[in-house]
Amino acid sequence: MDHTEDRTWCPSAPADRPEAVLLGVHAGSDGLSYLNEPVPAAEALALVPEGVEATSIMRFAAHCTQKCGHHTGTGCGLVTKVALAAPTVPGHTLPRCHLRGQCQWWRQTGVTACRRCPLVRTELAETQADDLTHKLADPAVGPHDLPT
Ligand code: SF4
Repeated sequence: MDHTEDRTWCPSAPADRPEAVLLGVHAGSDGLSYLNEPVPAAEALALVPEGVEATSIMRFAAHCTQKCGHHTGTGCGLVTKVALAAPTVPGHTLPRCHLRGQCQWWRQTGVTACRRCPLVRTELAETQADDLTHKLADPAVGPHDLPT
């Protein structure tokens, strides 16, 4: 990862992009356990047991392409909704996160995103996703359509 580049990175990205890196590992109710240094996604994927979906146990970061369904033309619509409605980790201090210098979510909402980021899942099994999760994940649902 080039820390001098101006391009931003998405902290909840697919693992199959060439530049993708491991952001952290899901660690129960405390949420994501962040890595101090980025590890290439390919190296992390090699450790995932067969039959396990990598994004069920890990989160990856990759370039913000500005082409995903969440991009509004001016920024990331997903983090706008996360900042409004996603739960925070109680008593959680800001994660020590290697991505902060390039993170699109940080640039848009600063600590508001970081306090919610540990509990974000890139993908959840249908049976695990509640109504709020569906609304956050659906690009067609705008911030004004979220429960208050
Ligand atoms: S939102 Fe904050 S904690 Fe999450 S990846 Fe970005 S800088 Fe790191």
